[in-house]
Amino acid sequence: MAKYRIEFDRELCIGALACTAVAEKFWPRADDGKVDLANAAYNEETKKWELIIDEEDFAVNKEAEEVCPVLAIKITKIENNE
Ligand code: SF4
Repeated sequence: MAKYRIEFDRELCIGALACTAVAEKFWPRADDGKVDLANAAYNEETKKWELIIDEEDFAVNKEAEEVCPVLAIKITKIENNE
């Protein structure tokens, strides 16, 4: 089954909450008005939050990526040999 990596640049997030509207389970609102990517790990190198998801969670998060006005969400497919 294919897996995908979500990368979230929280610095860019302006708290528009469009992502929350389409996938609240993954993009809950945080106390500072921005959102968090639930269960994500912070990557010190890229300064982004990362989460690996399965195919079944791809569609809603792809929608979140598409509705984010500042392109803070990026989803890439992980190849099998990775
Ligand atoms: S849609 Fe983008 S800017 Fe808006 S809360 Fe989500 S990540 Fe932040």
